[in-house]
Amino acid sequence: MLINETRHSYRHFMETEVSTELQRLSQLLQQSWKMVRTPRMKTVLKVQNVACDAMRDYLKSEDFIELLPPIIGPVTDPGIRGAKQVTFDYYGREYKVMSSAILYKQAAMSGLGKIFFMSPNIRLEPLDSTLTGRHLTEFVQLDLEIAEANYFDAMSVAEKLLCEAVNVVRDSCAKELEELGRRIPAISPPFKKLTYDEALEYLRRVGLKVRYGVEIPWYGEHLLSKLVGEPFFIIDYPRGARGFYDREDDNRPGILRDFDLIYPEGFGEAASGAEREFRYERVLARMRENGEDPRKYAWYLEMLREGIPPSAGFGIGVERLTRFLCGLDSVIEARLCPKVAGIHSP
Ligand code: AMP
Ligand code: MG
Repeated sequence: MLINETRHSYRHFMETEVSTELQRLSQLLQQSWKMVRTPRMKTVLKVQNVACDAMRDYLKSEDFIELLPPIIGPVTDPGIRGAKQVTFDYYGREYKVMSSAILYKQAAMSGLGKIFFMSPNIRLEPLDSTLTGRHLTEFVQLDLEIAEANYFDAMSVAEKLLCEAVNVVRDSCAKELEELGRRIPAISPPFKKLTYDEALEYLRRVGLKVRYGVEIPWYGEHLLSKLVGEPFFIIDYPRGARGFYDREDDNRPGILRDFDLIYPEGFGEAASGAEREFRYERVLARMRENGEDPRKYAWYLEMLREGIPPSAGFGIGVERLTRFLCGLDSVIEARLCPKVAGIHSP
């Protein structure tokens, strides 16, 4: 069923919407193994390595434990903005490939407290994501979680982590940045915080039609990212815009204690994070509200019923970080043999 659906929309996409740019991208990706032969790719991957090492070193100096990332499970993150999950048969049961390991981050809180993993995620993104320069089918996020923390604590780690990556790359990769013709803008914490309402207001003032209650669309985010000259947070999304695991503010019903971190210069979203809902009854109600079948989340709900510590965390995409650091047009330059929606490439 899923395969037929995908085939149908793929044919429709190829027959009706293929532009020159898509054709060019498709041709490039058909032989994606050749991209790695260019000196440019080696330079980009060097910067990526330095950035990942810098983030790891920083987190380890702050007593975070790096875990090996979970890859499959009976359920995965449902809050993935219109992308589809990959489902497969696991000895007679339906299993998923991680779209994000959020549920497992919460599981780690009981024993470990401060954790992160370099988490490979698969998302079948919608076909209109192919040319955004920001969407891959497989990507890696540095995904972290902190027990007993609130979303301001998580934002504080996010801004320090990004500044650390930028500073170390600036210091150690001057030659590489020069080769790429990249000047990374100066950044320092604390980053500005814009509420979701303020972001919408801002966009409406510049003439964009945006609906309250849902995620800010990519082009809106892109515009904000161009207009604000430094990294900034959008905080306090409305309840309908996010998954059941983003915690609702007890004193402001309908408002979530969550955030997105946005890069400047039009590079768009860097990271998403939140304080977690960990109370069994509240999660159950939110699942029902989102049309999720709680029976599918049996292990997770059982874990919540037993009790886990409150926590907060976020995930920052490694390819998008590389794109920002190197000033790339697209994340396809930030990994070996990249996959994007609708294109069959190696
Ligand atoms: P999310 O929880 O969906 O916001 O994902 C966490 C982070 O992973 C995002 O802020 C991005 O940096 C990155 N990310 C999400 N989806 C993709 C994708 N399709 N391609 C590349 N990076 C992604
Ligand atoms: Mg996000």
